[in-house]
Amino acid sequence: MKLHMWGTRGSLPRAIDHKTFVNLVDKYAKDAEKAGLSTISEFRNAIRDGDLSTPLVYGGNTTCNEIHHKNSRIFVDMGTGFADASSEVMAQGRTEFHIFLTHLHWDHIMGMPFFVPLYIPGTKITIYHVHPHAPEYVRIQFNGINFPVKWAKLGASIEFKQIKPYVPISFDGLTITPFSLDHPGGSFGYRFDAEGCSLAIGVDGEYKRFTRSDLDRDLPFYQNLDVLVFDGQYEMDELASRYDWGHCSPPIGVELALREGIRNIIMTHHDPRASEDKERSMLTEAIDYRSTKLAGYKAIWQDLKQPEGPNILLAYDGMEFDLKKLTIRDQLK
Ligand SMILES: [Zn+2]
Ligand SMILES: [Zn+2]
Repeated sequence: MKLHMWGTRGSLPRAIDHKTFVNLVDKYAKDAEKAGLSTISEFRNAIRDGDLSTPLVYGGNTTCNEIHHKNSRIFVDMGTGFADASSEVMAQGRTEFHIFLTHLHWDHIMGMPFFVPLYIPGTKITIYHVHPHAPEYVRIQFNGINFPVKWAKLGASIEFKQIKPYVPISFDGLTITPFSLDHPGGSFGYRFDAEGCSLAIGVDGEYKRFTRSDLDRDLPFYQNLDVLVFDGQYEMDELASRYDWGHCSPPIGVELALREGIRNIIMTHHDPRASEDKERSMLTEAIDYRSTKLAGYKAIWQDLKQPEGPNILLAYDGMEFDLKKLTIRDQLK
């Protein structure tokens, strides 16, 4: 099973303006000087090979994840990253798509009108949703006012299938089960299980229910898990002033990962206002948090033969994670 992250910003896409770009180039040039690089070609190679900093920028597109397993490729959400997936799926000649919706906030559906296969007759798209009114609120984007093309004019055949939380469905040996997240209006995560590999998408979620008893029916979705994609939008200091906004913070994800033995945690749904420096400092904060808390969960991690605790990663657009090769380590050395 593989995860490809097409969109990793939350709430709003994030464009990089001129000043930010100049500051980023300046920062990486300074890093290159510090690393002893002295020629432009050394700098170019270091940028390309990821020697200076990986990634160079964190997400710009809003949420869209794709899970690959055998012949199945399944999208979760249709943020602006979904529009970017168009050229790849067109090049592959794919004509059938399965899309699972976590919820209907705009940042999770706004890429749909720009997904080119929508306009190609013969394309078959199935949209799975837990929210009962999802078809109405997906279609509303194609009312001819918010976007010029009306729903009836789309070339693809599009079917909606309502699914129930905690009831699994299967594709090609891949089992997908929706579970509940804490988010205004309700949001549903998805756990994917296949051939002993497991991945859960826990976005958008505030994780107000955190103890095992509060998580209740949702607890098993975090247990015996290889990878959790977690809503790490805010710093811990910001959470109090953003109560009920529906998003969480990396150290809370790390605590959950430590407690439940989640081997890899990927922070995503980055705040659209967060700079690369801020994202890196949030990653450092999460790694420091793990260091201070790991001793309390030592037995779990020794049993898992991963005594250093969960790997902690920050998502970026274009990130791929192969669950058969769980050798990635924290991005900060
Ligand atoms: Zn969102
Ligand atoms: Zn949301």
